[in-house]
Amino acid sequence: MKKLFNVIGTSGHVCGTCKPAGCGTCGSVPKPPTPTVLSRREFGLTAVAASAAALLTGCSQQAPPEKVSQPAPAAPALSPDLAVVQSSKGPIMTTLQEFYKMGPGPSSSHTMGPMRITYDFFERVSKLPEDQLQRATDLKVHLFGSLSATGKGHGTDRASLAGLLGKAPATCPPQFLDGLAANPDEVHKVTLGPKTLNLTLKDIVFDATKGEFHHPNTMTAKLLAGNETLYELEYYSVGGGFIEWKGYKPPDKGQPKYPYEHANELKKYLLDDKIPLSKLLLENEMAISGKSEKDIWEFLDQVTEVMVRGVDTGLTVESVLPGPIKLHSKAAGMQRNLKNTAKGEAGRAVTRVASYGFAMGEENARGHIIVTAPTAGSAGIIPAVVKSLQDLHTPQQQVRDGFLAAAAIGYLCKHNATLSGAEGGCQAEVGVGSSMGAAMIAQALGAKPKVVSNAAESALEHHLGMTCDPVAGYVQVPCIERCAYGAVKAWTAYCIASEEIPEERRVDLDTTITAMALTAKEMNAKYKETSEGGLAVSLVLC
Ligand code: SF4
Repeated sequence: MKKLFNVIGTSGHVCGTCKPAGCGTCGSVPKPPTPTVLSRREFGLTAVAASAAALLTGCSQQAPPEKVSQPAPAAPALSPDLAVVQSSKGPIMTTLQEFYKMGPGPSSSHTMGPMRITYDFFERVSKLPEDQLQRATDLKVHLFGSLSATGKGHGTDRASLAGLLGKAPATCPPQFLDGLAANPDEVHKVTLGPKTLNLTLKDIVFDATKGEFHHPNTMTAKLLAGNETLYELEYYSVGGGFIEWKGYKPPDKGQPKYPYEHANELKKYLLDDKIPLSKLLLENEMAISGKSEKDIWEFLDQVTEVMVRGVDTGLTVESVLPGPIKLHSKAAGMQRNLKNTAKGEAGRAVTRVASYGFAMGEENARGHIIVTAPTAGSAGIIPAVVKSLQDLHTPQQQVRDGFLAAAAIGYLCKHNATLSGAEGGCQAEVGVGSSMGAAMIAQALGAKPKVVSNAAESALEHHLGMTCDPVAGYVQVPCIERCAYGAVKAWTAYCIASEEIPEERRVDLDTTITAMALTAKEMNAKYKETSEGGLAVSLVLC
């Protein structure tokens, strides 16, 4: 986000001759105040309170009058020490494993991040000397800031406990997570070397919601011997499932073979070096991550498996989703009705793709394992695309290449704008997911790089301005249906881009990413994951 403000500037600070992307001669632009990054759940309570009032007074189904817009309050300051703040400079260095993260939904920052944190802590303490572990009596996790304020609704406590019990986020069975929620008083055993400890959900403590935190999503984990702390670490769930801790140093990375910050630099390599897009992206990935080609394909195959398993599960389960909305799942019913001939070819095709998006979106809402692509809220889009590519019997190598192209779009948006609903509204989550999906389809079906880029541009363009306004703070309405639309729009964007003369497209990808960054900056704070505006206050739950 810091990058976003540096790139765009404001009319009050630029020289006046710049195009939106900036001429680069204006010098540094003072960072304007950013809106408060407040939790979905915290402000979702506003909507819940409105619903309760409606119940007491007799529900009229009428939307309450919209609140008068207030100036956006200042954001909680992010420490400049955080790697997430520092990594917004220089060429793109994100790797596939950082980007496609597997773990429980419904929130990458409030569920997946905390589980990755406690699993990291479990692994650390497991390696402590035996004499220290022998004295251990307890493990405790304290949630602060937004994690404490909104953790109940996001299942932060059960995800944190699962990690602390040694369950790896990528492979933890959904039934285990469901069991933790269904039996909150159950005692669980965790073995650390010579010692076995008993843990319950009460060992995950909802602590102070306000204070001077290094990051709004701060938590601490402790290994205790009675009142004595044997080992303690402060962690931060910095967004998108990324985690850091006090003293965190990002892992050493190699330099990309083809450094780029913008799509037009990528294009230059493709033309000058006459290298296929997927090869360029693979070589960069190997150079930055140090992984072999085989390791990369294995990882993408695992991502494919988790995504397709999630869609397949979501297509068979029918349930009321957790939370106050009492939302009934739709994916399984849509699948059942696919044979409905009245819909015709177009109706059936759209229903099929949309049902895949619903299936994974609903799995996310159930708190089951998903893959961030780019976030948890938008996690239904790429699985829907993958499943529909499999319907076409697309060879897995082409699906892998599609994953590379999709990631490149995500990297560009992350680097030059944002992937966070709290920073840029839903255009940054579902908009980017749909853009990634369009690029994936084009790449997997063998389109030229210009078509891949145009498809991504088209999908993103038609999500510009989309706000983040989850009802009651739950990643359900509008999020799940938006995943379905995001997948359908990805196909639409590909279909348009593959039918036009690529060079004649008037808007290029960099321009649209810049437009998204500008829109994000100017979007009212009410529409940035606060549940304080839009659908979140218009819909009365009764
Ligand atoms: S509305 Fe969009 S950005 Fe907001 S939580 Fe839902 S999916 Fe994420």
